[in-house]
Amino acid sequence: MVEEQIVARGVTDEKTLSAMNKVERHNFVPESLREDAYKDYPLPIGKEQTISQPYMVAIMTEELVLESADRVLEVGTGSGYQTAILAEIVKEVYSVERVESLANDSMAKLKEMGYNNILVKTGNGSKGWKEYSPFDKILVTAGTNHIPDSLFEQLKEGGKIVIPVGDKYTQELTVVTKVNGKMQERKLFECVFVPLIEDEG
Ligand code: SAH
Repeated sequence: MVEEQIVARGVTDEKTLSAMNKVERHNFVPESLREDAYKDYPLPIGKEQTISQPYMVAIMTEELVLESADRVLEVGTGSGYQTAILAEIVKEVYSVERVESLANDSMAKLKEMGYNNILVKTGNGSKGWKEYSPFDKILVTAGTNHIPDSLFEQLKEGGKIVIPVGDKYTQELTVVTKVNGKMQERKLFECVFVPLIEDEG
């Protein structure tokens, strides 16, 4: 998976590649789809949600330019796979998931796997997680038509947000950097994510 789908498409960040070589993706997909766990596409994980395509996880991770001392906020825990990748690289990961059963299942699984640098909570992640802010990096794994104010407010100076921005059908993977308190945006390529839902559910 890493060689054919990720290195072949130009991801070079050693931290990203070694985390993706280490974390066993089949532990994060439903039992019935295990044989597809390492294939080149997203998979359903229930509750109308998906585990992102491996390449998408890799490029989003690489674009965050993670440091081992970073504290990272993730919005959209889903299966917990991306959460585990982040936790392999950085000091602390805070992840917010809107669907309670996904949040609970992922937290339990990640704990069982031995991760002790991850906290997951149920809630509307577009509001961030004020208690633990500010964050060095923020990753949003659901599509939205705007960059939520709270997320930018909870980002440190020099920090980055990686977020799919667009309409319901397609988005552009966007990297936002906070420079002198202002937003600097860079668009990467088109992508398709499930929507970031901003009501309380
Ligand atoms: N990184 C996950 C992606 C899951 S899909 C993985 O690879 O498994 C996106 C997730 O975002 C879904 O689980 C969805 O329930 C969640 N989500 C949508 N809107 C949200 C919001 N406002 N706050 C937190 N999570 C949200």
